[in-house]
Order: sequence, then structure tokens, then C-alpha cells
Amino acid sequence: MIYCNIAFVIISIWVCASVTAFSEDGIVLDKHHDYEEMTTILHDVKRKCADITHLHSIGESVQGKELWVIIISENPTVHEKGKPEFKYVGNMHGNEVVGRELLLNLVQYLCAEYLKGNSTVREITRSIRTHILVSMNPDGYEAAYKLLEPETQSVLEWIMSTPFVVSANLHGGDLVANYPFDNSCHGNNREYHGSPDDRTFQYLALTYSQNNPAMDTFTGCDLADGFDHGTTNGAEWYSVRGGMQDFNYLASNCMEITLELGCVKFPAAHKLPYYWKMNKESLLRYMETTTCGVKGFVKDADSGEPLPYSRIEVQGIDHYVVTAADGDYWRVLAPGNYNIRAVSEGYKPAAYQAVLVPECSLGSAMSISFFLRKNVPQESSLEEILRSLEVADE
Ligand SMILES: [Zn+2]
Repeated sequence: MIYCNIAFVIISIWVCASVTAFSEDGIVLDKHHDYEEMTTILHDVKRKCADITHLHSIGESVQGKELWVIIISENPTVHEKGKPEFKYVGNMHGNEVVGRELLLNLVQYLCAEYLKGNSTVREITRSIRTHILVSMNPDGYEAAYKLLEPETQSVLEWIMSTPFVVSANLHGGDLVANYPFDNSCHGNNREYHGSPDDRTFQYLALTYSQNNPAMDTFTGCDLADGFDHGTTNGAEWYSVRGGMQDFNYLASNCMEITLELGCVKFPAAHKLPYYWKMNKESLLRYMETTTCGVKGFVKDADSGEPLPYSRIEVQGIDHYVVTAADGDYWRVLAPGNYNIRAVSEGYKPAAYQAVLVPECSLGSAMSISFFLRKNVPQESSLEEILRSLEVADE
């Protein structure tokens, strides 16, 4: 114990001497963290907040570094029935480092505030299972991103193995919240290509940008971009094939946007506290969208058994999500009136149910569960069979 205390004092003196900007939770804000330092912080948080964190690696980089994902949630090790899954992915491009530092701050902030009893953070950990991949490209600042590198393969498998609801991928080089689709319809650059969930994606992007004073008013590092309240459709900005946000939307339930956090990809360390100040509220509010829209269960009306892989359909939106293993689903939707139903193989489709989705706030999702009846006739009783034979005889 004495040794621990001495070590603590020495570390404190060293930290105080070498940095100037702490946040209120003693987080070192004005420093770039390399792989070893990042790993140390993640293990530190894991130790301090053991009850609400789970640290695991989803694979290795080309150079054998771990792709650490820290999960923050009450009961962090498993998907809980009815609890939505959220993810942040940072540093996919090795030289875009602001997102990596912001996510390291966020992890420490959530842990510290949870321990302090911050009611919003407690509610977030109670109602959302948050996954944070601080660095998707731990090999370093120069490593370029190539499709199907082991990092990409690991992330694709991760996306497909967890029922993620909402996500953001953090980049740098501009300052904007970019939403699908990224690829244009006709291969042209600068052509708006909205997804079937365009309204909801705009709402998600605005949730981030409007809580970020710098992003909200910014029109683009290139003045010709003319971003609208800090948001842009991906294809209208510049067309990208095989982008991560399109993959999430087309291959899974997850709605992902791409965040560009500043014109400078690798800002000086003393500028980093500014980025945290601008993005802290956005990062938290954006997580809360995971609990917005409509949620519920799909079950067999007779047995009460959950019906996984059922489709949740919204009238007029040509995109569905599917229920998870416990028959649970989350359908994030921008505020408004919708008709929604469940469709399951071998069951009669449920009737559409009208729902008014309110403005998003933590836990605002409307609950609608569907109880479906099998469409194969029930096995007839002997009496019914005999009666039907009599009718056939006549
Ligand atoms: Zn990037």
C-alpha cells in the first residue's frame, strides 16, 4: 500500500510537471498518446471501473498490435435483452488522430463521472451498451488504409457479430458530420445520394453537429463545400466506394455516420483540449440517439417465444432492421409519424401500428412489441377431422 502511494505521488508530480491542461476529471488533454500509453489508459479504466467495463481485443494489426475495444455498460460482457448497442470507431486512418484522443478522453470521462454518480452518465451506462475502438489503425501515423487489411477484416466481423444500432467513425481533414450514402448513383462526384433513411440520417448528423459550436457554423475547409449546419451527404461531398458507413447500413442494422473533426489531421498537442471542449457534448448527445425512435420485441403470440431474424418494416421506408437473438429490436427514426410492423418467416405479418416518434432524448424510444401468429393452420383435433370427412362425403 505504501509503495502504491509513493508511486502515485511520483506519477502525480511527473504528470503535473509535464502537462498543463487537465479536465475536471484529471484527464490529460493536451497530449498525443502512443499505442503503449493508450493501452495503459484502457487497462487503467478497466481497473477503476471494473463493474461497468470490459476490455477485449477484436484482432491484431499488421504489426501485431491489439485492436482494443472497451465496452462501457452495466453488465458489459454480454448483450442484454432489450439493451441497444452503440459504437465509436477512431483513427481508422493512421494520420487522423483527433478522434483517437477524443475517444480516450471519453472513455476516462465516462468512468470518472460514473464513479462520481453523474446521473446522465449512470443512465447512459444503464440503458446503452457502448463499444469504443479508440484506434482502428494502431500501427501508426503513416500506415495507409487498404481495404481488407486484417484491421478491416476484424472490424467487419465485429460489426456483423454484434447487433449495433448507431455508430460513428471518427476522421479528420475537414469539419463536418457526413451521412450515407457515400457512393453516388451514377459514379459522378458531387451528386446527392440519400439512403431510404435520409431524414433520420440528417437528424443523426445534426445531433452531432449542432451540439458542436465549431462544426455547426462551419462551411468547409474548402470554401466551395458549403456545408449545411455542419452536415453533408457523403456522395454530394465526394463519392467514395466501399465506405464504412454504407457497409454498416447495407449489411447490418447499424446506422453509422462519419465525423470529420477538423481541417488539421494531426494538430499540435496543445490544441487538443480545444477539440475536447468542442466535441464533448456532441459525443454524449450522439450516443443517446441509440435510445431514440422505436424499440420492442417480436414474439410468438401463442408460446411467447422470441422471434429472432424478424423484419421490422416502416411504411414508406425501403429499409428494414432485423430482431436480435431475444427477438429484441431498435429502430432509430427522426421525430414524426410512422406506421411500423413486424414480419417473420412462417408467421402472419402483424398489422401496421401507428407511432409518433418524439424528439430524441435519452431513453425516448417508443415501445412497440409485436405478437405474431403462425400462418400454418393449427393441427386439427380428431373431432374436426371427422367432421370435415362427413362434409366431404355429402
Ligand atoms: Zn479518414
